[in-house]
Amino acid sequence: MLKTNLNCPICNSSTHLDAKYDTWEVLRCNMCSHAFSANISKKPDEIYDANYFAKNWFLFPNLKLFRTIESTICKEYGLGARIHDLGCGNGNLLDYLNKKGYRNLYGSDIVSYLLPGLEKQINFQQIDALNIKDKNKYDVAISIANIEHLSDINSYMENITKILVPGGIAIIYTINENALIYSIAKIMRKFGFAFAARQLFDPHHVNHFNKRSLTQLAKKHEYQVISLKTINYPLKSTDVFLNSLLLRTLVLTGIFFINLVSSFFKSEISQLLVIRTKD
Ligand SMILES: [Zn+2]
Repeated sequence: MLKTNLNCPICNSSTHLDAKYDTWEVLRCNMCSHAFSANISKKPDEIYDANYFAKNWFLFPNLKLFRTIESTICKEYGLGARIHDLGCGNGNLLDYLNKKGYRNLYGSDIVSYLLPGLEKQINFQQIDALNIKDKNKYDVAISIANIEHLSDINSYMENITKILVPGGIAIIYTINENALIYSIAKIMRKFGFAFAARQLFDPHHVNHFNKRSLTQLAKKHEYQVISLKTINYPLKSTDVFLNSLLLRTLVLTGIFFINLVSSFFKSEISQLLVIRTKD
């Protein structure tokens, strides 16, 4: 495998090897502490296999997250908001917004598997977010659990800016590598129990954002930060890839307590950033 010396995709500073797994490495920026995966030899079809889309994450949407997003949009633009959900998946969020009375709803994704009947309620195009050449401009661009999967995060941010009206808002939801569960997984890995770190740092996530690095990326692209919140997944949306029922139950019980403690210390597993483009 070719050894690469990669700089940080956010601040371009030098990096060091943070952790080495069998088919990938995690590098960390010496300046902004952003972590990202590199030298990945795991094949894409092993990363995105059939199991990927049959996860609890898709079956049980995070309604608390949807409510937070909806109230942000409502406060800024009301029901007339023109909204584009990038990487909308099965359209869970657009379906939720449609039921709340929003009518200017657009979605795009590289795959097409919208909830039955939803294609009549929204405008959908099957396209990679980096290739959107949309003449429409939107008040709100939403990106849920996408940006951590992409290597070219700077082009992605540029494309979000392009589809927004001046002063429009982007709502970006991604992982929070400052979370308590990441710290516990990293400690467990040092003691030889790597399954949690392997799952959290699996190369389907290329960029492992912490609060500082996500905010820094937004500022680099000349956005103004409106708010940053940390959020947990509901337990039933949580996927644990272990075959033994006993082990899975034990891990889920552990996650239940980690969720409790992390919500107290604001170190939840994911973060929701709301930012505004220049007028
Ligand atoms: Zn950096």
